[in-house]
Amino acid sequence: MKIIMLGAPGAGKGTQAKKIAEKYKIPHISTGDIFRANIKEGTELGKKAKTYMDQGLLVPDELVVDLVVDRVKQDDCTNGYVLDGFPRTIPQAESLDAALEKIGEKIDYAINVEVPDENIVRRMSGRRACLGCGATYHIEHIPPKTEGICDTCGKELVLRDDDKPETVTKRLNVYHEQTQPLIDYYTDKKVLAEVDGTKDMAEVFSDIVKILGE
Ligand code: ADP
Ligand code: ADP
Ligand code: ZN
Repeated sequence: MKIIMLGAPGAGKGTQAKKIAEKYKIPHISTGDIFRANIKEGTELGKKAKTYMDQGLLVPDELVVDLVVDRVKQDDCTNGYVLDGFPRTIPQAESLDAALEKIGEKIDYAINVEVPDENIVRRMSGRRACLGCGATYHIEHIPPKTEGICDTCGKELVLRDDDKPETVTKRLNVYHEQTQPLIDYYTDKKVLAEVDGTKDMAEVFSDIVKILGE
């Protein structure tokens, strides 16, 4: 099962992708997590990506496409995967489709997690991320057991630099201009499914399971 998560920044793509990966035993591939790991390790890719991410801009297509195309060809991806945060532009989607077509594969589902802009800024200011394992919490909606500490790995939780309100507004504009057109793109490919991302986390997941099957 090859799945793409679509939706605005903060819509809950990552939260749901982790649950999908667990239930269907497929890898969760988050380009944002890959960039953040590279930034932490101080790699060349990380240094380049950071200048864009800090401004709320997309990292250029050429820095992300090959990375994902190589990743989905790895052995653990034979039964499928859930892509979170990729594709984010029409050229990225076209490159992915072309690469998959070459190996006789295609995307099965593009799940759009729908959340209006008004809800997004509030969600993002409450998001706390673990730099150790990538787990995500929300100070009101999905709090960790101990304030400021990751349930899974015990490391400290932080507010991402790009989750500050001024950057979030910029990211939302970028989303509407460059990423939202993918909804029509995957509708045309007859793989789009939509869920209401304003429901609570468990309800959104159960709606997704209805689409993907038990
Ligand atoms: P969110 O989950 O809040 O939408 P991500 O963690 O997916 O954010 O991405 C954080 C940042 O990483 C983006 O704002 C962008 O700068 C960069 N990024 C992640 N994936 C891509 C991509 N596919 N193309 C371009 N930039 C990306
Ligand atoms: P994305 O990957 O789309 O950027 P995340 O999965 O990181 O989004 O979620 C953004 C924030 O909203 C996080 O703080 C997360 O804990 C919280 N969140 C996720 N799903 C829900 C939900 N259904 N209701 C309320 N808050 C949620
Ligand atoms: Zn952690």
